[in-house]
Amino acid sequence: MTKPVCYSTKAFSAASATSALSATTIERRQPTPSDVQIQILFCGVCHSDLHYARNEWAFTQYPAVPGHEIVGRITAIGTGVKKFKVGDTVGVGCLVDSCRTCPNCREGLEQFCDAGMVGTYGATEKHLGTPTLGGYSQSIVVTEDFVLRMPANLDLAAAAPLLCAGITTYSPLRHWKVGPGHKVGIVGLGGLGHMGVKFAKAFGAHVVLFTTSASKVADGKRLGADEVVISTDAAQMTAQAGRFDFVLDAVSATHDLNAYLNLLKRDGNLVLIGAPEKPLPVAAFPLLMRRRSLSGSLIGGLPETQEMLDFCGQHNITCDIEMIRMDQINTAYERMLKSDVKYRFVIDMKTLA
Ligand code: NAP
Ligand code: ZN
Ligand code: ZN
Repeated sequence: MTKPVCYSTKAFSAASATSALSATTIERRQPTPSDVQIQILFCGVCHSDLHYARNEWAFTQYPAVPGHEIVGRITAIGTGVKKFKVGDTVGVGCLVDSCRTCPNCREGLEQFCDAGMVGTYGATEKHLGTPTLGGYSQSIVVTEDFVLRMPANLDLAAAAPLLCAGITTYSPLRHWKVGPGHKVGIVGLGGLGHMGVKFAKAFGAHVVLFTTSASKVADGKRLGADEVVISTDAAQMTAQAGRFDFVLDAVSATHDLNAYLNLLKRDGNLVLIGAPEKPLPVAAFPLLMRRRSLSGSLIGGLPETQEMLDFCGQHNITCDIEMIRMDQINTAYERMLKSDVKYRFVIDMKTLA
């Protein structure tokens, strides 16, 4: 394969695990026949961006350009592109390619590609052999099969976090068929958690939010929770023990999983979607006693991500966001670490001009 010609685009990157993000210029490939080039309008700020920028998962390649909740407008298309045209409003989530031939890819579960999905950042760019660089930039080039259509009725900035926070919560709730008659716990009211509350409510479950932040009780109810439990209050936790069919844990930091396993009924399932830096100890007895399960879930494949976007279009579901300028990203990270975001920062990418 001959290497495509590249062009330069502005971006924000981290030079090391301890350095602040700052302005830079990066190289992207010119669109190959199957590619679209997207002018990025908005990019959500996922806690994974912070984990990655600071090498908390120990696979960061520097300079690192995070960002995988991307919405924008197509500015150029390759000669073979069939699904999109210049001017279309589109989204790009956490993955930009995969092998496309393994059983998981054939089932539309590209996030579990046997050859390893190509993440929007931190993977290897197939054409250039260089690290993939994410959405904190003015433009991106992506093969058309990994580009999503944005519903026309949704506010684009508020829809951007659907590309990760949305699909990461939608997918496990759908996979485990959460719906009417189920009692569902959502742990952590951050970017993922607030979408978990919205989707679980939209699917008809009885939703209980578990939060460490007393200041989020009213918001939790406004977002759709039937009950809100302050998880640091032992009496409130004990009162909920053994009652849940399903708990979705979206916490970004070290916390006691056993306290949430104890919430489950017989055969109940605790699904981890949070990805804390350090391992979380699990005691045997909370699992053994009621034949409980502990599971995990990773984002979602392309077909399900489009299904989720279409569902949001039909039901008018978007994220609660706070818009920031690109140069506010370092402050935004510090605030995210203090759980001080309601409930997703979104970067207005024209501020990178
Ligand atoms: P976020 O917006 O920072 O939300 C995390 C929430 O966790 C906070 O708002 C807080 O909620 C709670 N929390 C934080 N520190 C805590 C602590 N020490 N103890 C208990 N609760 C704490 O983060 P996010 O963007 O939603 O991401 C959450 C996690 O999911 C991250 O680890 C991220 O990397 C991961 N993630 C995984 C996937 C996947 O595919 N599985 C996809 C995207 C992100 P309260 O204030 O309500 O307590
Ligand atoms: Zn994410
Ligand atoms: Zn594959």
